[in-house]
Formats: sequence, C-alpha cells, structure tokens
Amino acid sequence: MGARLLSGSARAAQVRAEVAAEVERLKRGSGVQPGLAVLMVGNHPASVAYVGAKLKACREVGFFSLQETFPEETSEDEVVQRIQALNQRGEIHGILVQLPLSPHLDPDRIMRSVAPEKDVDGFHPLNRGDLVLGKSDLVPCTPMGVIDLLRTHEIPVAGKHAVVVGRSNIVGKPMAALLLAADATVTVCHSRTPDLAAFTRQAEILVLALGQPHSITGTHVREGAVVVDVGFTRENGMIKGDAAPDVAAKASAITPVPGGVGPMTIAVLLRNTLVAAKKLHGVSR
Ligand code: NDP
Repeated sequence: MGARLLSGSARAAQVRAEVAAEVERLKRGSGVQPGLAVLMVGNHPASVAYVGAKLKACREVGFFSLQETFPEETSEDEVVQRIQALNQRGEIHGILVQLPLSPHLDPDRIMRSVAPEKDVDGFHPLNRGDLVLGKSDLVPCTPMGVIDLLRTHEIPVAGKHAVVVGRSNIVGKPMAALLLAADATVTVCHSRTPDLAAFTRQAEILVLALGQPHSITGTHVREGAVVVDVGFTRENGMIKGDAAPDVAAKASAITPVPGGVGPMTIAVLLRNTLVAAKKLHGVSR
C-alpha cells in the first residue's frame, strides 16, 4: 500500500477561509482591518514570486497590505529606518522582510529592528526565545505549518521519535523546538552528522529540510515513518523535494512537493498577521 498523502493545499485553503471569515468579523465588530507590510531588497526572481504570492493571499483574505521594494544597494541603516517607521504605523500589524538579504545587510540587525509584536515571521530574537520557552504567539510560519498539518491529519506526535534534518534558523531549529513542545523526542541532524541514515532510520516522524533535492532515499527511512518534506528546489524546470521518489514506498504518510508544506507557509503567515492585529488592538476572541 502506498503512503497516505498529507495535502497542504487542502488544509491551507481551509486556514485561509477561516482567516477571511475572522477578518470579516473583526472589521464588523471592532473596525480593525489586519495590515501586512512586505519589504524586499533587490529583485531576486524567487523573492519576487514569493512576495507576489503573499500579497495576493493578503488581498484574498481582506487584509490591507503594502509592498516596499528597495534597490539592491540600499544601506542597512535605510532599511532599518524604514522598518522603524512601519513599527509606528497603526494600520500595519505585521512586518515581513523577504529573505535572503544581500550579503551587505546583516539579517540579525534587520530582524531585531522589527517590533516583536509585529514580527509575523517569528524571527525576532524575543519571539525565538519565547518559542523555546513554549509560549510564543508568533512562530516561524513553515515549521508551524508542519505542526498544523500533522495535527489536522491526526498524526500523533507526543512520545514519538522525530528526526529533523537541517538546523537553519528559519526551518530546522524552530521545527525542533515545536516538536519538542509537542512532546516528541527530537534529534536534529545537519551536514556534519556522520552516518545520517543511522539517525533517520530511527525516525517515526522524519522532517526533511536540507535543500538537497532527492537526497533522502528509501534506505534512509524506517518502514511506516511519517515523512514531512520541507525541501523545495527548482531543478531543470522541475520542483523537487528532499525525498527521492522511493521514500513513498517506505513511508506510511508523506507530504507531496509541491502542494505539501509550501502552501501552509503562507496560510500560517496570514494567521500570524491576524493574531498580531487582534493582540495589538486588544481583541481577545
Ligand atoms: P538552509 O540551507 O539554510 O539549511 C539547510 C540545512 O540542511 C543546514 O542546517 C545544513 O547543515 C543541512 N544540510 C545540508 N546538506 C545536508 C546533508 N547532506 N546532510 C545533512 N544535513 C544537511 O536551508 P533552509 O532551512 O532555509 O531550507 C531548507 C529547504 O526547505 C530548502 O529546500 C528550502 O527551499 C525549503 N524551504 C521551504 C519552505 C516552504 O515554504 N516550503 C520555506 C523555507 C524553506 P549545516 O547547518 O551543517 O550547514
């Protein structure tokens, strides 16, 4: 029997519909329209596409949104000043800086300049700290999307051995923190892990976030494991995840690429922006 497909597209559509309904209620009840500002430096084609998709999603759920695009050579001070101005604007509840940034910009300084309560990507050190403490409202979107997918597909996490391959600040580390908060036993692997397969074969839940297309094969996977493939690489006009096609034969459930984790990222971004707007306006429900 093949692996069950954990569709992110279907769940993301549901989350978006819930956010849109909540936005309507919020506008009617409190006169608040959630607002998201998206900043981009340069015009890297993948970033242009991601930003376009995020703004389109904002329009579809009834958010106010604005985009600010800076030339590649913009100084760090200028970007920081712009973020500080957005921090002050009442109609903006979420500020997102599209990554990756050009090498002359320090992502750490830029992330720290976003007001923590408007940090809908969950990248500010305060929100990262809260995440580790298990009490953050604004959690990085991709790993939160994974947790949501596991929950809605009723895949138990508590007590399971979860192995995360990848330790980036955007995916791997927050993923591990969320799985730990959900009572999994968590192992984190990375490029310096010797004999990766010895670890991945122990996983009851295997999260792949390496960015190495089709590098994880059936031999890395325990029979019946749940495989979440965060990998997303364009290669020869094709979109590939980190899991090779033969992984599906070993797994009991797997996220497709595309249509798995990807759509969840934007859905959670919308939900985080709604949460931020409600909190900033003191709306509890
Ligand atoms: P990074 O390149 O920042 O991190 C990759 C991680 O994988 C690093 O920790 C690295 O280890 C580890 N790694 C790389 N090669 C190996 C290997 N051969 N064996 C073990 N570990 C390895 O990538 P991101 O975390 O930003 O993204 C990971 C993937 O997820 C990419 O394909 C990206 O496109 C995708 N992605 C998808 C999103 C979505 O919405 N679907 C959103 C964000 C990312 P080390 O730390 O030692 O270098």
